[in-house]
Amino acid sequence: MCDIWRERFSDSPDVLKSARLEQTIVSVLDLEIEIGGDEFITMAGPCSVETEFQLMATANHVRRGGARLLRGGAFKPRSSPYSFQGLGLDGLKMLARARRETGLAIVTEVMSEDDVPMVAEFADILQIGTRNMENYSLLEAAARSGRPILLKRGMSATIAELLRSAQLILDNGNRNVILCERGIRTFETAMRNTFDVAAIALLKQISHLPVIADPSHAAGHRELVPALARIGVAAGADGLLVEVHPNPDKAWSDGEQSLDFAGFDEMMEGIEPFLALRRQERLRGETIGPRLMEAVG
Ligand code: PEP
Ligand code: MN
Repeated sequence: MCDIWRERFSDSPDVLKSARLEQTIVSVLDLEIEIGGDEFITMAGPCSVETEFQLMATANHVRRGGARLLRGGAFKPRSSPYSFQGLGLDGLKMLARARRETGLAIVTEVMSEDDVPMVAEFADILQIGTRNMENYSLLEAAARSGRPILLKRGMSATIAELLRSAQLILDNGNRNVILCERGIRTFETAMRNTFDVAAIALLKQISHLPVIADPSHAAGHRELVPALARIGVAAGADGLLVEVHPNPDKAWSDGEQSLDFAGFDEMMEGIEPFLALRRQERLRGETIGPRLMEAVG
């Protein structure tokens, strides 16, 4: 990595790649799932946990389609205080049932420091939402729970700020941090956010932490989600976080950007050629790497 980046991100030295640490692999479900490794990891599910039927139908479908984790919010940070705020503990219990019955791991958001112990009991990965990326007391409490953390980039946060928040989690004794690009606010308003794919490419170059792309919140429109998912893979992401709902038009939150089951299947099919390229690249990396070393040595 060139010195310019090292200097620019000097506030977060421990998240940067080093000779000692090229890639962090975050393991969940007793090492069954590895994020940041060879396997591309899809995390899929509804924006909010709504009903047993909605969650179980979605969980079963996305598992069959190749997802390894089920997403779903029981605590929802909403743009309007009058919108549905999540089912809380009841939602967490539904996630636990889905986990038991499908074998999917669970990623779900924690919004308050006080809720960390409860959410950590049910979640394999704690999600920190865009509105909380710089909520340092929440980050500290989440870090100390010992659960892996999916850290979503603040909608107005720079890459340096995202990395600083990741550094804070590391400083609190938790090395299992996954970065998530979910779109940022720019002057463009046609889409909900602007998908900063260059951030994905840069983060993969400079940081050893896994990077996940969220095409759903980046786009805000379901028609765009498959294309953004393909671009996310091409940019080098280690996985996807994507919203799926049995009946998106009836969803209690983020229905416009949620894929229905057929849409999810199409998206998964669409990323396949890009995943094949990714596999080839990784194989090449493995064979070229040692040869280059020999040539230098
Ligand atoms: C979500 O994942 O549903 C969510 C609220 O995401 P973000 O924090 O990126 O808006
Ligand atoms: Mn959402």
